[in-house]
Amino acid sequence: MVNKKRLIDSFMRMVETDSVSGQESRMRDLLKEEFSKRGLEMEEDNAGEVLGGDSGNLLLRIPGTVEGPTLLFAAHMDTVEPGRGIRAVLGDDDIIRSEGNTILGSDDKAAIASMLEAYDMLKENSEQHPPLEFLFSVGEEQGLQGIKLFDFGKLKAEYAYVMDAGGAPGTIVVQSPCQNEIEYTVYGRAAHSGINPEEGLNAIQIAARALAAIPCGRIDAETTCNFGIIEGGIARNIVADYCRIKGESRSLSRTRLEDISNQLESLFRNEVKKEGGRAEVEINFLYPEVSLNSEEKVVRLAVKAAEKIGLRSELIRTGGGSDASIINAHGLPCANMGVGMQAVHTSAEHISVQDLVNNARLILQIIREASR
Ligand SMILES: [Zn+2]
Repeated sequence: MVNKKRLIDSFMRMVETDSVSGQESRMRDLLKEEFSKRGLEMEEDNAGEVLGGDSGNLLLRIPGTVEGPTLLFAAHMDTVEPGRGIRAVLGDDDIIRSEGNTILGSDDKAAIASMLEAYDMLKENSEQHPPLEFLFSVGEEQGLQGIKLFDFGKLKAEYAYVMDAGGAPGTIVVQSPCQNEIEYTVYGRAAHSGINPEEGLNAIQIAARALAAIPCGRIDAETTCNFGIIEGGIARNIVADYCRIKGESRSLSRTRLEDISNQLESLFRNEVKKEGGRAEVEINFLYPEVSLNSEEKVVRLAVKAAEKIGLRSELIRTGGGSDASIINAHGLPCANMGVGMQAVHTSAEHISVQDLVNNARLILQIIREASR
């Protein structure tokens, strides 16, 4: 049985331990301490050094008591801002919220607290289990930076579960998009705006015309694109000689991603050229798509486990990437699981105690199903 009080306490302690992206060391220390009390050593990699952060990714190996496929459970330690000095409040309605001026951090500490609770239940019941691996990543919120640096050669896992999706426990993300980040730059020509504007070429105006000509938003059922940041020029009285636009495109299909990214690039270049400016377009591939078949074992195990403990299982697709995108890309089948976190990345973020409890139960049941 889930020890509800213990789970709530450790969740509240975790969310009250600051760990915004790049500064996860306090959370790392807390986890090292918790697992070392249980006789387990965590291994930290050098992702922190590479990223200029203060903590690396943490890997925990839990030896199996029976033979069976090694299972990996993963969650990220970092949070977004405002995520400093979080105070968690448990309401009479059994919902945990922040005091209101920060996020809560259930993204992704609901997962971490539930993993710890599942481990404790496993040991308290002296249950047989296959070898387990717990991976706690850094820098997830900044473009999956930590997991991208992780050495997958260290893992023995055959199936993986990232616990980091929206939706109630039992939600299983089987499809998620690949993504390109795209940076468009227009170069014009500077001139004094009042004395000789004729000699200038306004990069901001050219960029505006080019942006008006390229699609933005939903392209089709599986493809989207956006521009989210625009900057350019240096003074009001200077004809702007550059303008930079940062955007992205996503698709569930790799070919569609390539098509739409190329199309955006050529439309943009053509428009800028028509206006006499010079365009630069830089496209970076951020992460690959995930497409799991409902018959794959990683999915079947999760569905069976959810149903066994009375949770409704639902296979969904999502519009965002996660650590699961990178884990799958390394050939390790990985589902991203809903943990019940709500209104994430806002000060209204909250989670119910029941969902925390169900996460722990579900993790334990997946382990049980894998042991059979
Ligand atoms: Zn998350």
